[in-house]
Amino acid sequence: EISVFWFRRDLRIEDNAGLFAALSGPYPVLPIFIFDPSILDKLENKKDARVEFIHAALTQLKSEIQKRGGDLLILHDKPLHAFQSLAQKFSIKKIYTNHDYESYAISRDDSVRQWAESQNMLFESFKDQVIFEKNEVLTGQNTPYTVFTPYSRKWKEKLANSEWKQFESENLTNYIPASFEIPSLRQLGFEESGLSFPSLIFSDDLIREYQIKRDYPGLDATSHVSVHLRFGTISIRKLVKRALGKSETWLNELIWRDFYFNITFHFPHIGQGLAFRKEYDRMHWRNNEQEFDAWKNGQTGYPIVDAGMRELNQTGFMHNRVRMIAASFLVKHLLIDWRWGEEYFAEKLLDFDFSANNGGWQWAAGSGCDAAPYFRVFNPYLQTQKFDKELSYIRKWVPEFQEFHYPKPIVDHEFARKRVLAAYKEALG
Ligand code: FAD
Repeated sequence: EISVFWFRRDLRIEDNAGLFAALSGPYPVLPIFIFDPSILDKLENKKDARVEFIHAALTQLKSEIQKRGGDLLILHDKPLHAFQSLAQKFSIKKIYTNHDYESYAISRDDSVRQWAESQNMLFESFKDQVIFEKNEVLTGQNTPYTVFTPYSRKWKEKLANSEWKQFESENLTNYIPASFEIPSLRQLGFEESGLSFPSLIFSDDLIREYQIKRDYPGLDATSHVSVHLRFGTISIRKLVKRALGKSETWLNELIWRDFYFNITFHFPHIGQGLAFRKEYDRMHWRNNEQEFDAWKNGQTGYPIVDAGMRELNQTGFMHNRVRMIAASFLVKHLLIDWRWGEEYFAEKLLDFDFSANNGGWQWAAGSGCDAAPYFRVFNPYLQTQKFDKELSYIRKWVPEFQEFHYPKPIVDHEFARKRVLAAYKEALG
């Protein structure tokens, strides 16, 4: 008789809530990871770096579990089917996992739970990915917050008043003894991307100086922890603990992450491609394909936008300030549906996460919760003056800019500003 711990977005043994529960339970644990073909088959780029990141994280995880006397079983199958096959080989008494808040994941987990219960197996899932979830942070009227500042205030109050702790799952060893092969990247249908991944190491000084440096892309003074948070190679509790007392601003960024997960959970219509504020779906977008291509390729004639898109294309990362500028430019200067940009970022960002990405795009489009009002149109030149005055970021990603023979802007700023204001006015009345 065994239990199974199912890894998903929590690829670590350290401070893992569900793994801790499993290893503290009555049955020895078989840890598994399932490569889900309904996710992998959607990835057109067979050099997708995220698959490679997961593969590397699993290799590391496997060796950590081996050191503790067990092994990680890696499957490539539809999750429900994978469990049905596993149940033929093992007498599974209980399945443990951690919560996931996206709609596909919720229905996937429901189907596994229903099947498990029909087989007299227990299925239990834990909060791990966020500090507060579901209905833990609500307004005085018991409704979900849709504005960040009061949400964050309540979040901090709750943190101060709760006994939260890290889970010492790394010290437990109740695994079943086993030895499994790991499928190669090639066997999964993928190849090396050639990209490199940010390390998990960043200094406390970076956190302390975050507030003054974070908005300057040329300084590259942010943590780059996002890809690790995305796949759970670090725990959010550990990061919050590090932030406390060092930087309120950096802590707030971690709270934004919780906030957007909560929005996804409470407002599932955003998972169906709809605007958070539904009236914004009345917008008439121009959706010019050539202009979209110019944006994607970093050839809009606006150096700061082009630098951002080239950073994204070459590294899978883009600085947050520039994500805001590039997103705003696509939506407001080119009048291209924010969903096109959202999809492009989803394809390219190593740290792509539905909640934060959708939140960022709808913020830029003005259609999201707590969004920038639609009549605030970023001026790319002023943004450059403020945040890349020395042009160090632009010169890094757009080397031809040094010669100042730069292509003409794809659209005039003042013309675009008037055009977008008229379009929003027409749609929103
Ligand atoms: P730091 O500045 O060091 O911040 C620490 C962590 O806080 C980040 O790793 C992230 O987990 C969290 N965080 C910071 N800012 C935000 C934010 N605005 N919303 C939610 N969480 C935040 N972030 C993603 O993780 N995945 C995405 O797919 C994503 N798409 C975005 C799309 C747009 C249009 C915009 C404007 C922002 C998007 N962000 C996304 C948020 C933000 O840009 C990145 O989290 C950040 O740039 C990652 O770099 P870092 O790890 O160095 O962050």
